[in-house]
Amino acid sequence: MTEEVPFYQDGLYFSCQQGCAACCKIPGRVEIDEQDIGRMAEALGMTHNRFAATYVRKVSGQLLLRERDDAACVMLGEDDRCMVHAVRPLQCRTYPFWDEVLANDFTWILEKDLCPGLDKGRWFSREEIDALRRGQAQTGGFNEGAEG
Ligand code: SF4
Ligand code: SF4
Repeated sequence: MTEEVPFYQDGLYFSCQQGCAACCKIPGRVEIDEQDIGRMAEALGMTHNRFAATYVRKVSGQLLLRERDDAACVMLGEDDRCMVHAVRPLQCRTYPFWDEVLANDFTWILEKDLCPGLDKGRWFSREEIDALRRGQAQTGGFNEGAEG
């Protein structure tokens, strides 16, 4: 059986654009686990329990970050920067290299309506993208500027 060649066989460009925060402002699920809670609590100088009681909800057994009143992620600060950037959850660290975005070249192009960082800046090889899809790597995020 031959392996299917993904549309990103030759790699893709992506760099998070400083000051954007669009993906943190759309209503959605930021899934987390207990380890995430521990890391984020420590980053904010809170106890695990206090962080969980303040910022976490559980839906059908899945831990999620709460949303602000405007539906943005509760970890998004008033300055449009993630308050826990260095320890942000896996799904944030691997965006936009998610299965649903990488389903085909059309889903990748559609995602450009949300994210202005697609097809810009840093080049990711197919191997890097596959590692990101497996949650075994991370993009740099906006704090690293041109590095994505
Ligand atoms: S990943 Fe994309 S949508 Fe999210 S903040 Fe960066 S540039 Fe904006
Ligand atoms: S945890 Fe940070 S990076 Fe992730 S959605 Fe919330 S504000 Fe954005």
